[in-house]
Amino acid sequence: MKMGRFVVDTHVHSQRTAAGPELRKKLEGSKKPKYSELGKLLRELKPYDNSERLLFDMETYSVDMCVIRPAMTFGMTNELNVQLVEKYPDKFVALCTPRETFEKAMRGEIDWTIEAACEELDRLLSTGKFVGIGEGMPIDPLILTGAKKQISREERIEQMLKAMEVAAKHKVPIYYHTGHTMGYVLRMPETLNPLWAHDLAATFPDVPLIFDHGGIQGWWWEHFTDQCLHVAASHDNVYMECGYWWTELYYKALLDPNIGAEKLLWGTDWGASIPIYAQPGRKPPTYPVQLRKQGVVTHQVDCWGWSLDQMDRLEISQDDLNLILGGNAIRLFKLKFPLTRMFKHVE
Ligand SMILES: [Zn+2]
Repeated sequence: MKMGRFVVDTHVHSQRTAAGPELRKKLEGSKKPKYSELGKLLRELKPYDNSERLLFDMETYSVDMCVIRPAMTFGMTNELNVQLVEKYPDKFVALCTPRETFEKAMRGEIDWTIEAACEELDRLLSTGKFVGIGEGMPIDPLILTGAKKQISREERIEQMLKAMEVAAKHKVPIYYHTGHTMGYVLRMPETLNPLWAHDLAATFPDVPLIFDHGGIQGWWWEHFTDQCLHVAASHDNVYMECGYWWTELYYKALLDPNIGAEKLLWGTDWGASIPIYAQPGRKPPTYPVQLRKQGVVTHQVDCWGWSLDQMDRLEISQDDLNLILGGNAIRLFKLKFPLTRMFKHVE
């Protein structure tokens, strides 16, 4: 049976990078492809359209729509996403990130500035082809590679506030990345500091601010999720993706009188290479995490089967489930839906 009236995954990567052959070339002599090698390589390689597998899974799990996005750190492009949206306007909408600025700075052609990144964002959103900003906030690629030193908390918040300004101008949601995969190195300071978002949410109370992964991109620690919940509970404009949460974790958000189903968005990381680890009898019995000792996963991990199973165990009303699975996404991204009054009213 379909899980809800209208099912939208708000965190999907329809592009993939064929890293295998390149990785084997580079690692001649060594047995397993390591995550550290893959991270570097993914920034250099060109992605391909992986929508055939995505459409297969949408059919399999009755997922009506996907919010597709480029990954901030890898080579995925806005252009390929727009092509997919134009081919299947009923199935996809896209977020944008300032890729051109990022890539030019990566190649050493320009010095990355938040002003240049925001100009590009403004230009992209003015086309009307995008419904939000993400994945994550614009960031200097050389900070991600480690070529440049980290900047201070104050400077990073200043940069993120500039990006919030663009979201406010275009009245679109913007994403704040949280969580860690364990495999890839992620030198994005805010991802380990969800509480910094208090400043952003309070300064722009009308801009929907969404936590990528709601603190769990991988691993069993609830620490980042607790911090995301703290921000979400104290600002009306803060939302969380929950697609990588295990069943028990949902109750933390659902039972908090200042959060509830209207602030959760079903968003996994479809297309990312994050396997599900099982430790039966322990808590949580399964969770997403990259396994460094086993090396890179080469198949398309089935995150939807796992994630929908976690939600299926929730003892909550179908109306609340419908909000998490699609109703909130329809409201925040202004998605086309044929009928009114099919979802609980949210102020
Ligand atoms: Zn992602």
